[in-house]
Amino acid sequence: MAEPLSVIQLGNPILRQKAATVENVQDEKIQRLIDNLIATALETNGVGIAAPQIGQSYQVMIVASRPNPRYPHAPQMEPTAMINPKIIASTTEVVKGWEGCLSIPGIRALVPRYQGIEIEYTDRNGKLQKRVLTDFVARIFQHEYDHFEGLVFLDRLESSLDIITEQEYQKMIVKKS
Ligand code: ZN
Repeated sequence: MAEPLSVIQLGNPILRQKAATVENVQDEKIQRLIDNLIATALETNGVGIAAPQIGQSYQVMIVASRPNPRYPHAPQMEPTAMINPKIIASTTEVVKGWEGCLSIPGIRALVPRYQGIEIEYTDRNGKLQKRVLTDFVARIFQHEYDHFEGLVFLDRLESSLDIITEQEYQKMIVKKS
């Protein structure tokens, strides 16, 4: 049974480590990790989560975009596990958009990211996949990928003026919709 796990918070040194490559995707421990990550993302209204966030420093991420109270305008997709992913190409266009992080509760910031990326990853069945991601889903991927490098979205900001509280963010999106 998959069980949601607690998400570690900024200040925990694991979030600043480089995550290890997964050697064997079929390993029962990795398959269980994937199930627990999906359960954790669903329970916390996350649209993505990286294994280091539950204290397991492996290159495993879930991209699970869907509308929810934290991101009411997110596109709908099946939760997808991406193992040992790489960015192969990116657009020259960089766009700023709002992000938050389950490991940094209470704040949001406008983060510059590539508008589109081409990626390669191993899926949970061990197959190599190639995909082109754009806009919000490309943003989720780049955010989670940074967790493998020991980076968080605050490290990417152009200015601290781009930071707001979760409460102000919620007011803003209610006004917009
Ligand atoms: Zn995060």
